[in-house]
Amino acid sequence: MKKKIEVEIEVCDVCGTEEGVWETCGVCQKAMCGTCVEEHALEYSTMYNMNIVCICNECEEKAKTETNPLYVLLQKLVEKQTAYKNWIEAFNAEVIELENEIAKMTGKEEKDFELL
Ligand SMILES: [Zn+2]
Ligand SMILES: [Zn+2]
Repeated sequence: MKKKIEVEIEVCDVCGTEEGVWETCGVCQKAMCGTCVEEHALEYSTMYNMNIVCICNECEEKAKTETNPLYVLLQKLVEKQTAYKNWIEAFNAEVIELENEIAKMTGKEEKDFELL
């Protein structure tokens, strides 16, 4: 016998595709497929707990004028990540310079590293 069953599927709130939902906006909970995330949202990745937080463009725009607690935290995180990246670049440059100076004094080969 044949029986009809009801199936619940998640569809993209932007384009309506049934291909599957890739991310949900952390603010308005809008569900988006992979393509729509690329076009209509920004993804923030965390450094240590390896999470990805997605914010849709509308919420991103709104958060610039209205305070949103999640957005405030994400901006703080981006600031820290940028500071870390700058610090590590400066640190590496100093260490490489030191190492090259030592190499020069000891007649060893100097190396030019391309880091990051
Ligand atoms: Zn979509
Ligand atoms: Zn949103």
